[in-house]
Amino acid sequence: MSVTVADLLNSCALPNLEKQMLLQYVLQVPRIWLITHDKDVLATEQIDAFQTLAQKRLNGCPMAYLLGEREFYSLSFKVNESVLIPRPETEELVALSLQYLQGIAGSQTFHFPLIPQALQGRSLTAPRVLDLGTGSGVLAVCIKKHFPSAQVTAVDISDRALQVAKENATRHHCDISFVQSNWLDEIGDQKFDLIVSNPPYLAPQDEHLMQGDLRFEPQQALTDFVDGLQPYRHILERVRQHLFVPHAAVLFEHGWEQAESIRKLFEQYGFLAPNIGTLRDLAGRDRITGGVMLD
Ligand code: GLN
Repeated sequence: MSVTVADLLNSCALPNLEKQMLLQYVLQVPRIWLITHDKDVLATEQIDAFQTLAQKRLNGCPMAYLLGEREFYSLSFKVNESVLIPRPETEELVALSLQYLQGIAGSQTFHFPLIPQALQGRSLTAPRVLDLGTGSGVLAVCIKKHFPSAQVTAVDISDRALQVAKENATRHHCDISFVQSNWLDEIGDQKFDLIVSNPPYLAPQDEHLMQGDLRFEPQQALTDFVDGLQPYRHILERVRQHLFVPHAAVLFEHGWEQAESIRKLFEQYGFLAPNIGTLRDLAGRDRITGGVMLD
C-alpha cells in the first residue's frame, strides 16, 4: 500500500509541529514542502526512518537530540547525548557577558549593579574569556562570535562534550582554545578578564532530573551529585589567581533559588558585597549572579 506524506503525518500521534519537524529532517525539506507535496508517496526507508524517530520521541527523547541541532542566540548548534541541550535562559548570560565586555552594563533597560562606574565605557581590547564546563560550546562560541577580539578558552571535563564544542566552534568559524579540565584544574597560571559558567546546579534529589528532557541529558551536566552548589564553591575557591585585578568578572548561571547562597560564596571568597549582583531571567527568576574583583 502506498503511504503519502499526509497519511504518514496523520497516522502519527505526536503534536503537529514535532511530527512535521521529524519528517522534514528525514526528507531534508522545508516545512512548506510537506504541505505542497502532501500527496507524494514515500519510500519504505523514509517511512521507517520517520517511524523510528517518532517512536523515540514518543518515548520522551528530546527533539534536539533527534534532530541533532538546537538554536541558541540565533545560531544553530550541534547537540547530542553528550551535552546539555542549550536553554533560552543561558542566552541572558551571553548578553550580559557581551555587555560586560563592551563595558556598557547598566543601561536603562538592563539594570545590573555589577559593573562599577569607573569601569563603564572602558572597552577592553582583546579581553581573555574563560568558559568553564562549556558543554556544546554555546557560551564560548556566542561570545567569540559577537566579540571577535576576545581570546576565548573553553573547558570541559568530558572529552565527548569537547568534541561537540569543537565542531560548533568550527561550524561558526570561531577560533577558541579548548582544554579538557575539571573546572580550573588544568588552566595553569592563566588569567582572564571574564570567567563564565553554566555548571550543573541541580541537587541530586531534584525531581526535575526524572522529568522531561532532563532524563535523557548527561547527569553530570545537570547535577553535582552533592547539593547543586559544589561547582560554585570549587570555582570560587580557586578563581582569584585567575582574574586580572582590578576589573575581572565572574558570571554564573544558577537555579532560581540559589542566588543568595551564591552571593554568600562570592563574599566568602573575597568579592566585596557592592561588586556582587544578581540578574533575573525573562521569567522574572533570579538566574545569573556575578562578581567583579576590584582588588
Ligand atoms: N536549567 C537547567 C534545568 O533545570 C539546568 C542546567 C544546569 O544544570 N546547568 O533544566
